[in-house]
Amino acid sequence: MITVPPAAEKALKILEAGGFDAYIVGGYVRDLLLGFESADIDITTGATPDEVKELFSSCRIVETGIRHGTVTVILDGTSFEITTFRGDGSYADNRHPDSITFKSSLDEDLSRRDFTVNAICLDVKGKVIDKFGGEEDLEKKLIRAIGDPEQRFREDSLRILRAIRFASVYGFSIESGTDRAIHKLAVLIHNLSKERVFSELTRILAGENIEDILLEYYDVFNIFLPEIDGMYGFNQRNFHHKYDLWTHTSHVVSSVKPETALRMAALFHDCAKVDTFSIDEQGVGHFYSHAPFGAKKAREALSRLRAPSAVIEKVSFLVKVHDSPIEEKKAIVKKKLNKYGEENLRALIELQRADTLSLADEYRARLSHFDVLERIINEIISENECFSLKELAVNGDDIIALGFSGPDVGKRLAFLLNAVIDGKEKNDRESLLGYLDFYEEN
Ligand code: ATP
Ligand code: MG
Repeated sequence: MITVPPAAEKALKILEAGGFDAYIVGGYVRDLLLGFESADIDITTGATPDEVKELFSSCRIVETGIRHGTVTVILDGTSFEITTFRGDGSYADNRHPDSITFKSSLDEDLSRRDFTVNAICLDVKGKVIDKFGGEEDLEKKLIRAIGDPEQRFREDSLRILRAIRFASVYGFSIESGTDRAIHKLAVLIHNLSKERVFSELTRILAGENIEDILLEYYDVFNIFLPEIDGMYGFNQRNFHHKYDLWTHTSHVVSSVKPETALRMAALFHDCAKVDTFSIDEQGVGHFYSHAPFGAKKAREALSRLRAPSAVIEKVSFLVKVHDSPIEEKKAIVKKKLNKYGEENLRALIELQRADTLSLADEYRARLSHFDVLERIINEIISENECFSLKELAVNGDDIIALGFSGPDVGKRLAFLLNAVIDGKEKNDRESLLGYLDFYEEN
């Protein structure tokens, strides 16, 4: 028996007292059996949405999902999605059922769910109801479609990305029949909204199993990311690299923190290498300008997928500068901090570290470089050292008071900031105002 959380138990009892079957189902049960408690609790019940609203009339209710039979009920501070047993009609658009019928049975409801591990129920007493062998698949770490995989993916192609997401996040494999259907029908992903694809891609990339997933499902990613064309198996013909381009990329993605922009940047960092490849007389491969060109491709891909603009900007920035070396000098690091901002500079160092880690083995010796850079940043920040106009002891008003205006003000401030960063002058108001005598127009 499994302990049902008290608020959920109460919700199930209210439904049962109203004469309806009710069970916790889906992601919550899956995650609980895997050993972690998720926040979203989905309840499936024989009650119609109107009946649910009636039974929970004393609670706050949100009706946004009501067309799909879902009423969100907030009970004792916990929110529940209560959905009427559903059977789906046909699917003309590979995504939305043409009709939904309510008031079918639990069995029918469970058989329209996507994967065996997502169709396990808990009753009010904590008894597991598992019609499709979901528990066994959890144990075997398998994602298996319920019913005929091809039919299920044709009905709703989002399931293709969901399968890959669960495999990535939980470190599961995809059962062979389900896997075959994914590769066969991946093109149906084109029927999904771009926002959906972006949201699933983000979650897939954050998974701990992402390296294997990128290698196994390259063809699927390539369906909605033409930017990665040609990367699979691409021999870089360059002694820096021990991996082919896609293997290298997969390695870099899995080596950076599971943060959206960083993982996306890792995914796209070398995507223009195929386009910029040239080979010299010695037979060595080069990729001149692959970084700025890759930044442009990343921007195109992410804009097409309607990514938030903050993500687009950060990713294209990271890709553009990913192979620009940073010297281990405080003044240089301060200039980078000023130009990029602390967060972006730290992300860039993380990306460069992961990139180096995925080169030929002799590059491992270079990893300490990134520790040194991080130490320098930490010191600058913790000592409140001046690296931007914010910390400069002189501000625009001081320069204006000397009779300057317009661009002349900014140029002088930048001159003084550089003097402080380069250690030529103290960050002290009087000293800096005196130092202005050395300013030269160039
Ligand atoms: P998570 O909440 O982590 O995304 P989840 O499995 O809970 O995972 P939800 O979108 O919350 O996903 O859906 C709840 C349940 O509804 C799923 O566990 C599954 O049983 C069912 N479900 C969701 N999406 C689909 C789908 N596209 N096709 C079939 N069943 C689905
Ligand atoms: Mg859920």
